[in-house]
Amino acid sequence: MLSQEKLLELDRKRVWHPYAPMPPANPPLVVAEASGVRLRLADGTELIDGMSSWWAALHGYAHPALDAAAKEQLGRMSHVMFGGLTHEPAVTLADRLAALAPDGLEHVFLCDSGSVSVEVAVKMCLQYWQSRGLPGKNRLLTWRGGYHGDTFMAMSVCDPEGGMHRMWDGVLPRQVFAGLPPAGFAAGVDEAYADELRELIRRHKDELAAVIVEPVVQGAGGMRFHDPGYLRVLREACDAHGVLLVFDEIATGFGRTGALFAAGHAGVSPDVMCVGKALTGGYLSLAAALASGEVAAGIAAGELPVLAHGPTFMGNPLACAVANASLDVLLGDRATTSYPDGWRAAVTRIEAGLRAGLA
Ligand SMILES: *Cc1c(COP(=O)(O)O)cnc(C)c1O
Repeated sequence: MLSQEKLLELDRKRVWHPYAPMPPANPPLVVAEASGVRLRLADGTELIDGMSSWWAALHGYAHPALDAAAKEQLGRMSHVMFGGLTHEPAVTLADRLAALAPDGLEHVFLCDSGSVSVEVAVKMCLQYWQSRGLPGKNRLLTWRGGYHGDTFMAMSVCDPEGGMHRMWDGVLPRQVFAGLPPAGFAAGVDEAYADELRELIRRHKDELAAVIVEPVVQGAGGMRFHDPGYLRVLREACDAHGVLLVFDEIATGFGRTGALFAAGHAGVSPDVMCVGKALTGGYLSLAAALASGEVAAGIAAGELPVLAHGPTFMGNPLACAVANASLDVLLGDRATTSYPDGWRAAVTRIEAGLRAGLA
């Protein structure tokens, strides 16, 4: 075992941390164990992780059902490639995701992180139009204040102020930005802003492959909530002008906003949806891009009918098994769930506690 001083010394010397200089400006906290909502630090201090590891640890740390699923799968196989092979954990997970997702999202591309699922979603949309003979439809529209990941195409649709666009000027593809969505979950739809969205989509329709947004909550943009009505505005404008709609539910999926997926607040389905983070209950890196039958069929009808993407750890059985266990805990019957009154009741209870505590 490394002493705490030695560990921090090596960390400073060797290890790059997120959004940090090398060497880092401040020493990180050393975590020894995590259980429930608590992190136990190497010096014995206990902290409540109110951030649940960037909103991923859905049921808390060291959940017995998730631990058991990981151990059980480990005894069978931790990984095999997904090219030409398949396995029950991935097939079961894909089938469950398609059944739970908003209507029409029938096909599931499993990948290894949220950013990669955003890249895959964008690739699907661009390829869809290319296959249909419209390669000029290759730009994206989003609203300001968003976050979609740190790979280059994902960065191009992050907020242009906070997303380091200036640093990557000339490198990032230039996307179309609408203003910040007006704040407030129940604020109603501001018609002037809705018209701005409609007008931008209309004006750029010939070059737009898709609109991509975080539905209902802009997570990394400061937990900014907007009225779900704007999702209906986007759906209608996209349909009217032949533009695909992508919802990035990486932060909002799996009950986080009080609906299983945030799209459910608006009753609309996107053409492509990204999930990640809480997909495995925060245990392992796994994400997915779900696509409609129309998007898949469009790609399949093209000159190059394949989606040329295939991460090495695609469909990782260990991650899929834990994701299946996480869905059992979230949605299962009384024997398997941690939420005997249902997860919605748990969200309501937590919301009430937060409201009272913050007040
Ligand atoms: C975290 C996040 C991503 C990126 O996911 P990674 O797994 O960190 O690559 C993309 N979009 C949203 C909305 C996110 O919250």
